[in-house]
Amino acid sequence: MATSKVKETKAKTAAKSKASAAKTKVKASAVKTTVKASASKAKASAVKAATATKATVAKVKAKVQSTVQSAAKVSHYPVLIIGGGAAGVSVANTLRRKSTLLEIALIEPSEQHYYQPGFTIIGGGAYSLKKATKQEADLLHPSIIWVKDFAETFEPKKNSVLLKSGDTITYDYLVVCPGLQLDWDKISGLEETLGKNGVCSNYSHKHVEYTWECIKGLESGTTLFTQPPMPIKCAGAPQKIMYLAADRFRKKGILDKFDIQFCNAGPGMFGVPFFAKALSKVIADYGITTNFGNNLVAIDGKAKKATFEVTDGDGKKSTVTKDFDMIHVTPPQSAPDFIKSSPLANAGGWVDLNDRTLQHNKFANIFGLGDAGSTPNAKTAAAVRKQVPVVVKNILRLIENEAVQEGYDGYGSCPLTTSLNTVMLAEFSYGGKVTPSFPKLDPRENRFIWWIGKKIGFPWLYWYWMLPDAEEFLDKD
Ligand SMILES: Cc1cc2nc3c(=O)[nH]c(=O)nc-3n(C[C@H](O)[C@H](O)[C@H](O)COP(=O)(O)OP(=O)(O)OC[C@H]3O[C@@H](n4cnc5c(N)ncnc54)[C@H](O)[C@@H]3O)c2cc1C
Repeated sequence: MATSKVKETKAKTAAKSKASAAKTKVKASAVKTTVKASASKAKASAVKAATATKATVAKVKAKVQSTVQSAAKVSHYPVLIIGGGAAGVSVANTLRRKSTLLEIALIEPSEQHYYQPGFTIIGGGAYSLKKATKQEADLLHPSIIWVKDFAETFEPKKNSVLLKSGDTITYDYLVVCPGLQLDWDKISGLEETLGKNGVCSNYSHKHVEYTWECIKGLESGTTLFTQPPMPIKCAGAPQKIMYLAADRFRKKGILDKFDIQFCNAGPGMFGVPFFAKALSKVIADYGITTNFGNNLVAIDGKAKKATFEVTDGDGKKSTVTKDFDMIHVTPPQSAPDFIKSSPLANAGGWVDLNDRTLQHNKFANIFGLGDAGSTPNAKTAAAVRKQVPVVVKNILRLIENEAVQEGYDGYGSCPLTTSLNTVMLAEFSYGGKVTPSFPKLDPRENRFIWWIGKKIGFPWLYWYWMLPDAEEFLDKD
């Protein structure tokens, strides 16, 4: 009964605004006619009249515009979250447990949610895309309002976000976590050839299975693994898939028939020297060649040629083109365009956050986390797990009129798959400080136990612990 009344009122309001938009349009066309008529009068007075009428037309047009816009929906939620990936879903569900009555809305365009850390072992033939995919609707607490749309424009001074559909949502507290943008188009020729001609990438859910097809199908040849300039998500992923491929070849007894090359735009194996040294040993053991300062700029898939911009030790640039039988591409990455162009961005385009409180540096009722944030940690789901409780606590503190607190230490983790049955578990915080969860075990060791973690333990923790409630997870950590 109540619902049908609401529907009726909504229908009436929509009809009213449509009618008034039509009326205003009629007025506008009447003004246009006046403009035409005035043109036949004396030149001077015509100019005067036309100027005056132009202003009237502009006014009427503005009125039409605002009437049409007011037909779009405006809603308000105390907490609004942008992005329903690892960070958004965890924040929403954790906040829900801590505050059962708080109205929470989450904007997420995609119906599927991917466990992206699983993409490495899908590409390596040790996991399935099916296991790494769930429906977004099944992950959110039923009381959380899911707005299936894209956030487009921010007006932080009005506490409002404009969506692609034209609707507007206002908020008391905003959490911004739309992940990062994969800039495939920055490599000339890549988009046309990705997913065929031996060109693959674990960074795309559409093409991750093709990586395994390539690895499985090769008996010999040149395989290239590329890494773009930082920052990227999971900085270890470009080389993790290379070790899985090399180990496959070794297990088939054909490793010596391959020329495997790591082509890295950066200057070394890994950002944290403690692990970089250990990885150099892994790479030497497989006989892999390293090419540092090599940034992929173009691919000709049909000709199977990849072109790199090479920067030498003195900063001198040149170009080199290599033949390949298979190339695994890690695309350049940046903040999403709608963040870059917003008042929320820092100079680099990322959501401008305090490194330890995760509060926005300019707008006190806005928080951010995950890959879109400016914090200088490793962009990983592991980092998100430690960031969520900090964001949740600080929003609740602000609601209670208390000051925000520092809580995030820059933790990030990268389980480096060094073979098809071993992982080196790299864990570190701000400044490259090594922070192993199990300090008695040397984290540089390649261990079978962490391989089991990577294949079974970590996905389970993600789906059944972190996404439902990251703080609960942390308390038990
Ligand atoms: C190949 C690969 C291997 C990885 N390996 C690991 C690993 O081993 N360990 C680890 O911890 N991490 C790993 N990661 C990284 C990890 O997946 C990310 O760091 C993590 O998912 C970041 O979470 P997020 O919520 O910030 O972004 P995402 O999980 O990417 O979610 C962002 C969400 O925002 C949505 N969105 C985008 N634009 C808009 C918009 N305009 N409006 C509303 N919503 C929007 C997207 O649809 C998406 O659902 C890996 C990633 C890849 C690709």
